[in-house]
Amino acid sequence: MKNKVILITGANKGIGETLSLEFSKIGVNVVLLGRNEESLDGVYDEIVATTSTKPLIIKCDLRNIDANGAKQINDEIMSAYGRLDGVIFNAAKLGKMSTIEDYGEESWREVFNVNLHSAFVISKEILPALKTASNGRIIFTSSGVAEAGRAFWGAYSASKFAVKGLAEILRDELETTSNIKVFNYDPGKTRTSMRASAYPAENPEDVKKPSALFNDYLWFFSEESQLSKQHYFKFDD
Ligand code: NAP
Repeated sequence: MKNKVILITGANKGIGETLSLEFSKIGVNVVLLGRNEESLDGVYDEIVATTSTKPLIIKCDLRNIDANGAKQINDEIMSAYGRLDGVIFNAAKLGKMSTIEDYGEESWREVFNVNLHSAFVISKEILPALKTASNGRIIFTSSGVAEAGRAFWGAYSASKFAVKGLAEILRDELETTSNIKVFNYDPGKTRTSMRASAYPAENPEDVKKPSALFNDYLWFFSEESQLSKQHYFKFDD
């Protein structure tokens, strides 16, 4: 993994923060994408203080990203490293928990922009770089509510269904034409602020920490996973 470059969206907290720190510890140069400068700086400083890797912060609000914004992201990565080995589309917005009848259009659009549209426009821009990597990887983040729709989960659930579709389409397009592997991964219940918002009555101590997920993510970037015929995985709780 040493000297590889991985883009992680939503790198400032939760699962994205943990993955950024853990991948840095094994020599990966992590591109930290997020919208909160202060917390991104905190992750950056910790990486620089504890590893000899070169992280890069890309500040971006994924609610508003378009093709130009995605091109800028790719350009910044290329000018900093001249390569990209993988992306983890981790950022997501939970949005409002309500019936569809009460769901606001703007809120629906924002959730879809962050959870789906951003991955579409960024994928388009980074594909040429990933195609030149020896084992390029695109990792999408799924959820239990992408398997069966559930009342009150609105745009979050619908967008995760759509992420599943995007992952399957990309995999089908890329698996016979490139070395890129596409995985869609459900981390299962994990102790983060999103989990606490969705399940406020739950005791966080009963939920695994994000660090428990790292071995699965490491495997996605391994030589072994290059041979995998399976593309959807779920954390084994
Ligand atoms: P989290 O702690 O709330 O992290 C979500 C990340 O997405 C944060 O970094 C957040 O940044 C970022 N994000 C949200 N809106 C953004 C925007 N407009 N622009 C840029 N970044 C934005 O949640 P998490 O649990 O770690 O979630 C990580 C992934 O795991 C998500 O895809 C989620 O759907 C999935 N997942 C989580 C669980 C679980 O139990 N935790 C279960 C299944 C799936 P801000 O701090 O700026 O908001």
